[in-house]
Amino acid sequence: MIVQVKPGVYFARVAPAGVRLLGALERTARRLQLPLLITCACEQHPPDDPHSKGEAYDVRSWSFTPAQKDAVLRQVLLELSDGETDAPTVTGIGLATARFYGQLEHPGHPKEHFHFQRRKGTVYPS
Ligand SMILES: [Zn+2]
Repeated sequence: MIVQVKPGVYFARVAPAGVRLLGALERTARRLQLPLLITCACEQHPPDDPHSKGEAYDVRSWSFTPAQKDAVLRQVLLELSDGETDAPTVTGIGLATARFYGQLEHPGHPKEHFHFQRRKGTVYPS
């Protein structure tokens, strides 16, 4: 399975953390054999938002079963882990590693999507 990008999604900037995120999405799609669709990169966010900085991406979720949603969130964060001491942990309503965070935004609503980003308060690369 592959990662696709919704028409209109704009990669004005891809930061090093963004490259890492894109790699994690691609590996997750192949490992889980699920197609992932990036629905937002840099567009439609304020300048200081992680999206605008090329450090956050949204991915379509509504086409997946609840079990698939859990698997995608967990696998992406596993791919973003920096080793055995950096296992994804529940943080807020999502999962986090030392340097990345992901969650299902607006669960159950038409706007529902995965959001993945460099974790707030971290620097990447360190
Ligand atoms: Zn987002």
